[in-house]
Amino acid sequence: MKRFDVIVIGGGHAGTEAAHAAARMGAQVALVTLSTRDLGVMSCNPAMGGLGKGHIIREIDALDGVMGRVSDRAGIQFRLLNRRKGPAVQGPRAQIDRALYRAEMQAEMTGMANLRVIEAEVTDLRVDTGRVTGVVLADGTTLEAGAVILTAGTFLRGTLHIGDRQLRGGRMGDASADRLGDRLRDLGLGVGRLKTGTPPRLDGRSIDWAILDRQEGDAEPVMFSFLNRAPFVRQIACGITHTNARTHEIIRENLSRSALYGGYISSTGPRYCPSVEDKVVRFADKDSHQIFLEPEGLEDHTVYPNGISTSLPEDVQDAYVRSIRGLESVRILQPGYAIEYDYFDPRGLKGSLELTALPGLFLAGQINGTTGYEEAGGQGLVAGVNAVRLVRGEDPWLPSRRDSYIGVMIDDLRANGATEPYRMFTSRAEYRLSLRADNADQRLTETGISLGLVSETRKAAFGAKMAALSAARDQLSARIVTRAEAEDWGLPYAASGERRSLMDYLSIVPDTAAALLAQGGVMEGLDPETLTQLSRDATYEKYAHRQDAAVEMLRRDEDMRIPDDFDYAAISGLSGELGAKLAYVRPQNLAEAGRIEGMTPAALTLILARLRRLA
Ligand code: FAD
Repeated sequence: MKRFDVIVIGGGHAGTEAAHAAARMGAQVALVTLSTRDLGVMSCNPAMGGLGKGHIIREIDALDGVMGRVSDRAGIQFRLLNRRKGPAVQGPRAQIDRALYRAEMQAEMTGMANLRVIEAEVTDLRVDTGRVTGVVLADGTTLEAGAVILTAGTFLRGTLHIGDRQLRGGRMGDASADRLGDRLRDLGLGVGRLKTGTPPRLDGRSIDWAILDRQEGDAEPVMFSFLNRAPFVRQIACGITHTNARTHEIIRENLSRSALYGGYISSTGPRYCPSVEDKVVRFADKDSHQIFLEPEGLEDHTVYPNGISTSLPEDVQDAYVRSIRGLESVRILQPGYAIEYDYFDPRGLKGSLELTALPGLFLAGQINGTTGYEEAGGQGLVAGVNAVRLVRGEDPWLPSRRDSYIGVMIDDLRANGATEPYRMFTSRAEYRLSLRADNADQRLTETGISLGLVSETRKAAFGAKMAALSAARDQLSARIVTRAEAEDWGLPYAASGERRSLMDYLSIVPDTAAALLAQGGVMEGLDPETLTQLSRDATYEKYAHRQDAAVEMLRRDEDMRIPDDFDYAAISGLSGELGAKLAYVRPQNLAEAGRIEGMTPAALTLILARLRRLA
């Protein structure tokens, strides 16, 4: 029998992050996965990041995780979403070359000291006196460990649906993990079923690109990792097309043949990533939906049509896809499908991601009711750290809603459970002005260093950045602006004659002061990146107090009673979706309203404001 400190089951996005984190901390780690080819496989879209999700990747990177660095090396188109809005809601996103991502992830994992990748199926857990002490492999081998992390993704009792056809599988081309799934059900853990779907894959050589609009990446690409400055490989453009009235007609005519509407699937899918048949039904008034045609790699002709995931039969997929402009002669390489899988009620987890009912077993990723590579990676990292800390007899590390989106996600999952796949949005974070993608390192790298997660290279880079910020702050604070200078530079001068430094101005009028400083001549030697960061920090410091006060007010008033006839429709700014949920649930007070899935701090503030007006 072989013994490890930590065993990770599953080499997907949660598993790789968990195993790498535990190994970085010096633990002896085994990563057991169905196939070593699993490392770095992206089951669905060839893209990383976006709003909320990009924030999580930055947090993983700040803790020296792998997802950000690997994405940068495999990124073939980088875009900073919401570039024109404030940094708090900007999200880095990239198109990824699938094959490169896999190759880079495999190199990271196989080259990691203390980490052994084992190709095998885990069929059982070893449980001694109510505690998980290892795993049993399909060939009967037992591996022993101080802690086990389960990250089986969509594989536990997975069922694929294409129209009325059903196949067992963890994703297309891979077997499902039924024996482990059955065993976990026997252990009496709170198990439910969720579903997700993926679009057909297209042969790019059969697309008429010439008649389609193109979307280029950013002229000045922003990387995920704080250690990288520029893309590593050639960059590409994506195509844009749309569904049309004919597409919708074909889908409507065949709805009863879709797995979803034909009654073959009963579980809930991701609300914010609906299938094309769902879009046609739910948004019946719209006769067109946008589709991004995303190349899956530099050396690959496969194209991912983002926006038309489906569980319709193959002949219907063929017909509706070919009704779309530019796709009239397209060849489908792999049909779209939906998948149903087991997940565990995350309310059974501790903040460390250890299961309360089964000590020694940590759960991370899709099996906790989330959807997305980034959400999985974030949980994997937390589980990896805490498994090592458990083995070492140390207190768990509990990221909080105040310090990270990862903390927000774990808190939401534990408080509310997941009746539909949970994905991250910036609106879920009440402290979102402080939890920006640009300051993830300032928020978390110090913690990462104290947890033993951070390499010497990153420590040095982080130290240099913080020293530069501090020196620039001192320099700007020491430089007092005279009245004549303020007038000359267009800066507001205090009527009281109060002496203000350039740093004060950066807080009072961040954009104006930053623009002035960037012109040069006022204060030489300021590195533009340091100045930009100081300016962002200063901008948000102003609002952070207001944000903290709003959060505090919500906490104080969470017992405030909501009348039974409260009119949610009368609140402007409240989304139709949340308004409908609130009107249906009729929470008694704000605390209850806060527990409704999908509820956001901003929406609670709107309700509170109206309650106050009515009082
Ligand atoms: P996975 O990436 O699924 O990895 C699980 C790993 O565990 C695999 O490597 C598997 O081999 C291994 N494993 C499982 N059981 C065992 C066992 N018994 N023994 C050994 N190894 C085992 N996300 C979105 O954000 N939006 C979408 O629209 C979307 N659509 C999707 C559509 C489909 C069809 C699928 C399959 C997934 C989709 N996803 C989508 C989800 C996305 O792929 C997951 O969120 C992400 O991969 C979860 O990462 P994970 O590490 O939890 O699991």
